Amino acid sequence: MVEVTVLGVAQDGGHPQPGCLRPCCANVTEQHYPVSLGLRSDDGTNILIEATRHLGDQFTLWGQTNVHHLLLTHAHFGHIDGLGLFGRETLASRGIDFHVSDAMHQLVNQTPQWNLMVQQGVFDVQTFNHDEQLFNAGNLVIEAVQIPHRDELSDMHAFIVRGPNKSLLFLPDHDTWEETLAVHSVSSIREWLTQMQIDIALLDGTFWSKDELGGRDQSKVPHPPVLQTLNMLGNREDGDPEVYFTHLNHTNPLYDAEGEQMKQVTSLGWKVAQQGQRFTL
Ligand SMILES: [Zn+2]
Ligand SMILES: [Zn+2]
Ligand SMILES: [Zn+2]
Repeated sequence: MVEVTVLGVAQDGGHPQPGCLRPCCANVTEQHYPVSLGLRSDDGTNILIEATRHLGDQFTLWGQTNVHHLLLTHAHFGHIDGLGLFGRETLASRGIDFHVSDAMHQLVNQTPQWNLMVQQGVFDVQTFNHDEQLFNAGNLVIEAVQIPHRDELSDMHAFIVRGPNKSLLFLPDHDTWEETLAVHSVSSIREWLTQMQIDIALLDGTFWSKDELGGRDQSKVPHPPVLQTLNMLGNREDGDPEVYFTHLNHTNPLYDAEGEQMKQVTSLGWKVAQQGQRFTL
């Protein structure tokens, strides 16, 4: 059995987002941490995907504090800003298998604080290529999938977690469906998920619609809006994987469990990821 715990569902800035005084972040009762997943295989191996600044709270949610393997999808702020917590000042971890792409490895080497942690033995860097199996632990296997996403710092990979019964895709960020599907030579989301044999897909749900960006330049924060993904998916049909939207921006109306937008998602048969939710693979 492989257990997956959703340790966060927010976009990099979290929810409430620092500095936001608008209704989306005023009087928020439950804090949402940036996206992260905790995996535990049947042989007791703990795997963490993403290192956020809320690592401590996320350990509490997970019920685990000992990380054996750490994976990063890419180098954007909310996915890596907790890396320093593994160092001497806080957790004083030793020998964590740190799985990164070649581009991410270069960035680790060039970032003095991270490079020092590698020198000190906190991390044992292991590089991976996309479309290959990263490692297996007990009955769990991890694969990396190449994803087009703003690459000013590093490239981006989604991860597939395969357990004995089910496979889960973690795709928190990407620029457009057009580019992602083109890279994998498929014409629809369904075709892509079927090709990868995915049962549970956690997909980029950063923005509900393009209107949410207000006056901001769309090219600077590109993510396919949930509305577009819903249009492409249509109704959930027999045999379709379960789709959960995650990586929600603080402005995303899907934080309101009673809202119209949430009803729209669920009436089509799809879901929104919930912090603390667990999947068994
Ligand atoms: Zn992100
Ligand atoms: Zn806000
Ligand atoms: Zn990103």
